Amino acid sequence: MSRSRLFIFGAVLAATVILAVLGYVSLRQWQASAELLFREQSRDMVTMAAEKVEMAILKAEEESLSSLHVLLMTAELRPEAIEDWRGKNPLFDRVTLIDHQGRVLYPPGGDPPAILREIPEGLWDRGGRRHLVVGDQVVLAAVIPGATGGPVLAVLERSVEGVKRDVLAKTLGGLEGPTVLAVLDAEGEPLYVSRPIDNARRVLTVAFGDALPTWRVALYQPAGASSRGDMRRQAMLFMAAFSLLLVVIALGLGATYRVIRRETEMARLKSDFVANVSHDLKTPLSLIRMFGETLELGRVPDEATRREYYAVITRESERLTRLIDNVLDFSRIEGGGQRYEIGPHPVEPLIHDVLDAFRYPLAQRGFKLDVAVAPDLPDALMDPDAIKQALANLVDNALKYSTERRRLGLSARREDDWVVIEVADEGIGIPPGEAERIFEKFYRIGRSETLGTRGSGVGLALVKHIAEAHGGRVTVDSRPGHGSRFFLYVPVAP
Ligand code: ADP
Repeated sequence: MSRSRLFIFGAVLAATVILAVLGYVSLRQWQASAELLFREQSRDMVTMAAEKVEMAILKAEEESLSSLHVLLMTAELRPEAIEDWRGKNPLFDRVTLIDHQGRVLYPPGGDPPAILREIPEGLWDRGGRRHLVVGDQVVLAAVIPGATGGPVLAVLERSVEGVKRDVLAKTLGGLEGPTVLAVLDAEGEPLYVSRPIDNARRVLTVAFGDALPTWRVALYQPAGASSRGDMRRQAMLFMAAFSLLLVVIALGLGATYRVIRRETEMARLKSDFVANVSHDLKTPLSLIRMFGETLELGRVPDEATRREYYAVITRESERLTRLIDNVLDFSRIEGGGQRYEIGPHPVEPLIHDVLDAFRYPLAQRGFKLDVAVAPDLPDALMDPDAIKQALANLVDNALKYSTERRRLGLSARREDDWVVIEVADEGIGIPPGEAERIFEKFYRIGRSETLGTRGSGVGLALVKHIAEAHGGRVTVDSRPGHGSRFFLYVPVAP
């Protein structure tokens, strides 16, 4: 391969490698930023959910407190009224009311809760409320102005069940999509889940604000439906598409390489062809000229020699005609302009015509001839001139490629629906790997034995074309050093 072609291939290969690396790097980057985006979105979602829960809980507490306020303003403190209020406010499971002197007003006979010590004195003066953490529970302490006997401290302990039912289920229950939101307690155990977690993976957790200081919200992604899974699938798809692209590029490169190689070889064969044909034309022409001039000058004394010279001229001009016919027919075939007049014709006369044409060179080179035409051979469906030309090419080759053992076998027989004409020699033979290629145009086997022989490389291509135009075929059976047998199959006339 030439240097420039090597360079082009190197460039395409380098471009492909760069493309592959870029593709891989951008895939990794895309994956990383998609992951980041996913985490950000998840965080936003969880933060929003936490805020919603907190707002809902504060609102519920606010409502409970104001109804308690109303209760304490309007009536004297009756335990039944508080029981009634508790029934309507299931968010709290323990309620203690204490006056400023530390006496427990409700539940009747109850002990003051330990938390009392943690209530800052300012709360009594300022009023208002405060969330206090006791263990992992949140207690709401609020000073409510009472109707009689001064302000009352209400210590409300939240009921986990009440929070789950009235707040969490209502705010987180309507979540769409495969994502699971869960509320975890101080130990990280789920208190509430928006749907069964199963084997979902925890993506992140976010703490609540002051209203729920020990709990957290967590977001889970089901294993299969997570957007990370989506991402992985997309990445796989991308990788697959990209690999396919690389394969296509590689195939394209391979194909281009082959085309270029073929083209180069074809160009070389064509230029060889021109040289070979010119050489082939020159030899008979110079013979004709030499013998013609000798005769013209009257330098040939006896009649027998003169006759021989005439024969040489005729033979060489026949050879020239054959050669030119071959080249012309070949170019006509290449241009698609070759027409055959196919009809039923006997085969035997055709074989004799071909032998007649070669009688002189056969005799001169001392060839032994074996001709065998089956007695009841049917007519063949053919263009006799074309088949004659094909046979002439095969016989010419048999002559050209025979060295010591000179035998030409020409036979014709029937095989099923075919008339098979066989041309056999005991010449140099054809190497097994070349048997197919010799029928390609311009192809000549380059080896020492044939270096001296003349030829254009189109003879067998023409034979093959003629055979196929008749619906038949040409095959070869050859052993190097032992000879070759060519078989021309022509259809039997109906
Ligand atoms: P050419 O003009 O070179 O003879 P052909 O197309 O007739 O071209 O043949 C192609 C090649 O096949 C030849 O160059 C030769 O190497 C090989 N070949 C053809 N016929 C024979 C044969 N009878 N014996 C050995 N080799 C042959």
